[in-house]
Amino acid sequence: MTPRKDSEFKKLIRKITLLNAVRHKGKAQTGAVIGKLLSERPELRAKAKEIPALVSEVVQEVNNLSLEEQKRIVEKKWPEALVKEKAEEEKVLPPLPNVDKYAQIVTRFSPNPDCVLHLGSARAIVLCHEYVRMYKGKFVLRFEDTDPKLKRPVLEFYDAIREDLAWLGCRPDEEHIQSDRIPTYYEYAERVLKDGNAYVCACQPELFREKALASEPCECRDLPPQEHLKRWHRMLEGSYREGEAVVRIKTDLSHPNPAVRDWPALRIIDSEKYPHPRVGSRYRVWPLYNFACGVDDHLMGVTHIIRGKEHLTNMVRQEFMYKHLGWQYPEAIHYGRLKIKGASLSKSKIIQGIREGLYKDWDDPRLATFAALRRRGITPGAIKKLIIDVGPKTSDVVLSWENLYAYNRKILDSKADRYFFVHNPVQLMVKNVPKTFTPKLRLHPDQPEGGFRKYTITPREDNNSAVLWISRTDASALKIQKVIRLMELFNIKIERVNAYSAEASFISEAYEEARKAGAPLIHWIPLGADMPCQVVMPDATIAEGIAENACKGLKPNEIIQFERFGFTRVDEVNMRLKTYYAHR
Ligand SMILES: [Zn+2]
Repeated sequence: MTPRKDSEFKKLIRKITLLNAVRHKGKAQTGAVIGKLLSERPELRAKAKEIPALVSEVVQEVNNLSLEEQKRIVEKKWPEALVKEKAEEEKVLPPLPNVDKYAQIVTRFSPNPDCVLHLGSARAIVLCHEYVRMYKGKFVLRFEDTDPKLKRPVLEFYDAIREDLAWLGCRPDEEHIQSDRIPTYYEYAERVLKDGNAYVCACQPELFREKALASEPCECRDLPPQEHLKRWHRMLEGSYREGEAVVRIKTDLSHPNPAVRDWPALRIIDSEKYPHPRVGSRYRVWPLYNFACGVDDHLMGVTHIIRGKEHLTNMVRQEFMYKHLGWQYPEAIHYGRLKIKGASLSKSKIIQGIREGLYKDWDDPRLATFAALRRRGITPGAIKKLIIDVGPKTSDVVLSWENLYAYNRKILDSKADRYFFVHNPVQLMVKNVPKTFTPKLRLHPDQPEGGFRKYTITPREDNNSAVLWISRTDASALKIQKVIRLMELFNIKIERVNAYSAEASFISEAYEEARKAGAPLIHWIPLGADMPCQVVMPDATIAEGIAENACKGLKPNEIIQFERFGFTRVDEVNMRLKTYYAHR
């Protein structure tokens, strides 16, 4: 190594060490520094012998500095490294446009309570809530429940949605229900009618469509406003039947998108036949989506509308209405589609599946509803992190369940206690057990202070054998003469094995010997120290087996890890343990 190269090398070590120290409260860790060094400069592996001494020297020197001093050096020499590290650590959302124009940032989430929420809603909720948190603004929840016929709201879902938001940690600052606001919509309908910016169209729908496609007005459009106000009152009084009259907002009849032309704002629903679950048959005239939503966004002071790009046309429609009313359209952010491979995010398919009995309930583990995810032990933190990392980008994104699981695993791994679950148990008889063993198994491998599960394995007096449960999958992988380590217990050599039982001999206790022999590690439960256990899998099948005795002390909603099986949420604990499987 030339002297010049040598000093460059030392500089690099110093930089990595300082960055590491700043991240760890002023104390750099030699192992982490070496790891980072070798990953940045793989060619240094050739010098692997000299590196530890060099690094530990630098680590010592750096750790002697105060954290403030370390920070000062890093900020001065490598400010970009600090920024980059921070961005990687916690991804933040890009700023919202035109924030300075508004005294307070207001966003809204506006579900129709005709179904429970599912992962597809997470993006709107998390982005709206997170931006409000960023700008200390206001997050509005608005139930859009003005279609008692085709998208009929269901009473229980208002509360289910409130609960889902609370679970996600996205509680609204304000709540509105559109079915409580019908008189307000009437008021604005009258205003646009009176101003000649809307009209009551009594044409046959096909006839109107034909005219609109040809960019021609129907025969109602140009009648005087007084006539339309008369028609409007007849709508309210019940002189028109369902489908006979509709209020239309005037737009540009030659707008390139025919679906924008004179869009419908309010229509009649036979509410005797289709009563609303909250307000019954009180109203016959109901606002359609764009009208109610447009009026509300303005009246509720929404400054930033954050929603999927499938709403772009709705924005174009509503902009005509805003112009008529002299209102300023809010800032609109339209993000791309987010698909999760293998997850059905179609509300209609979920509703249909429930109705036909394909799914047991809204929290059926095959569904991507929040209720189902919650039951399986998917944490709200994982969902939030996933959404924030994707952000509000306009391009379409395809994710997999595995992406969500990876976030969840990161959250659970350091928290979830470990237990043994033996799936499809078979008996393993171990001979020549020399003494009584009292293994202490850590509840968490990295947290000795977290406590232990303790078992006693006493060999039978007549033949020194002990019997344990192991899973059939493990048993069927056993080979005669093979050395196996029973996790945290002892090492055995297999002597006989069939589909229902296995026999082995004790050979030694030390883990080191198992490691040398390359012995696979399998988990076990002592005979008699078990309880029946069912794990509901994501495909709704049930994995039957036994859990270790220590599971008797678990409480519902705890998320644990069954070692070598996966993370799972405790659902019921009584004579039997029932859990829902999250993921590996
Ligand atoms: Zn007409």
